[in-house]
Amino acid sequence: MALIVQKYGGSSVADADRIKAVRDRIKRTVDAGNQVVVVVSAMGKTTDGLVALAESVSATHAQTLTEIAAKEREMDLLLATGEQITIALLSMALQSAGQPAIAMNGSQVRVVTEPIHTRARILYVEPEQIKAALDLGKVVVIAGFQGVAIDRVTGLPSTEITTLGRGGSDTSAVAIAAAINADICEIYTDVPGILTTDPRIVPKAQMLAEITCDEMLELASLGAKVLHPRSVEIARNFGVKMCVRSSWLEDAGTVITSSRIGTGNLKTLEINNFVEAVSIDYDQVKIALLQVPDRPGIAAQLFTPLAEKGINVDLIIQAVQETEGVNDIAFTIPQDQLRLAEVVTRSLEMGASSVTVDADVAKISIIGVGMIGRPGVAAQMFTALAKAGINIQMISTSEIKISCVIAASDGESAIAAIQKTFDVPVRSHQACEINPETNSDISPVRGVALDRNRARIAVQQVPDRPGMAAKILEQLVAQNISLDMIVQSQSARNVNEIAFTVAIGDLAKAETALKQFAPVLGYGEVSCDGDISKVSIVGANMIYQSGIAARMFSALANSGINIEMIATSEIKVSCVVRDHQAEQALKVIHQEFNLSGDRAIEVPSVLKTKP
Ligand code: ASP
Ligand code: MG
Repeated sequence: MALIVQKYGGSSVADADRIKAVRDRIKRTVDAGNQVVVVVSAMGKTTDGLVALAESVSATHAQTLTEIAAKEREMDLLLATGEQITIALLSMALQSAGQPAIAMNGSQVRVVTEPIHTRARILYVEPEQIKAALDLGKVVVIAGFQGVAIDRVTGLPSTEITTLGRGGSDTSAVAIAAAINADICEIYTDVPGILTTDPRIVPKAQMLAEITCDEMLELASLGAKVLHPRSVEIARNFGVKMCVRSSWLEDAGTVITSSRIGTGNLKTLEINNFVEAVSIDYDQVKIALLQVPDRPGIAAQLFTPLAEKGINVDLIIQAVQETEGVNDIAFTIPQDQLRLAEVVTRSLEMGASSVTVDADVAKISIIGVGMIGRPGVAAQMFTALAKAGINIQMISTSEIKISCVIAASDGESAIAAIQKTFDVPVRSHQACEINPETNSDISPVRGVALDRNRARIAVQQVPDRPGMAAKILEQLVAQNISLDMIVQSQSARNVNEIAFTVAIGDLAKAETALKQFAPVLGYGEVSCDGDISKVSIVGANMIYQSGIAARMFSALANSGINIEMIATSEIKVSCVVRDHQAEQALKVIHQEFNLSGDRAIEVPSVLKTKP
């Protein structure tokens, strides 16, 4: 017997027939001897409909903050009704099929949240009532996406209804699973599982049997449509096993694994430290190629021979340069491979204006899934380093990790500064989730993601002194702009270039903010480019094989696709390419790593018309 949480999304409960199909699946699960807790979304597009209704009765004139806050409270009352319809109907359906069931909304269960409307985070879930009902042989049907606010004064649950933010019922389900210590949290949706890439671009994308939480989070742009990142974050922190399956099919779906067992605090479920650990790696040497011609194939021309010689390239960054037609490329490798790497690099005749080597560097990284969607974290890290007088030579970021290359002699004070800012432990520098021996057959690249919703900003001629990266980022954080793929390249002339990507919708706002501060902070031109896309490969096993990035670069080169920016972490390599080549880039990379199956994954015909 297992304790199973099943979450059904809006399309799975869109009408009476679908609700009956869900009822049958639940019944089968109970009949097989399991205890079942069900979490549901609002039926179909109900929530969208409610939002539209709210807009249609609301004033359009400029509102005061108090008016907006009042509206948010009523908004939660309104939106929470959607899920309440589903729990009542599903519970009735179960009861009339002879299956004892009880429907509970967020305040009845006590899914206790912060006292914030429309985007509350879950503090804790009281497990007692759920368990009592299960012990009576009932299926417990709980409204997702909603909770009840804690009273700031008494510290006890109030009667104020809150919601978790759009798509929040995945988060409800995993939080409940963590609280009752469920064996698995099954997410039923309209896709059969997590695929290696977007099947609308690559029809033969394959389904993954298994993926780790970290990989899932790094594939955010691919996975977000299927799973809300906040739910993955909880699963990871509490070691909740999850799976994503289609509610239309019987397929096993994709299991999302987490190796962490119960490290989170059940009293502050979603308020964990957003940064979990800091790590430092002194076994690093930096090689930089300045002013390399900017044309397709350059990255491949460099990293392929390095890979062939077995050189383990760790961090790679490439950024655009103020001089048209050239790029700076820098990378780090282990100390003992320096001589070989230097010989290989210098022999290549890449047309660089110079090749510099710095053996006295260290890589300091912070890692934490909570960084997703918190634009301030990178700025905080850079500020901490700046305050300690530490200069950042290179920066590379991924969704869940930020790495900076600094002088090795600054290592200890850097660790101290970061620990003071984030109150985190020091972790050994290679935190990996997959055991190489048991999983040697797993492809090093698990998924390829394309994010077309990005724009690139490059800030040029940034004075090379402590605090500049932090100050630049702060301008953006103040505007609540989330940036990713931050890259800072090396420069010979005491200036750096800092480039990053932002959501395309934030581009104008970011540009204005940055241009405004150029005279104050002393950096040069701010160049913006909305016609780019970000393509990434992700795989937890990449760290055990060299040459993975090189293969990605070659695949792009062979198709004549120019790489305009590169950023890497242990489990991810991202490249910025021209938007009109983005789909082709995705296809050739997917092909390079043999990720296609021999047939297209079947999607039920009812869903084919969905966007
Ligand atoms: N019904 C809510 C929404 O549409 C929550 C969810 O479906 O996850 O955003
Ligand atoms: Mg949803």
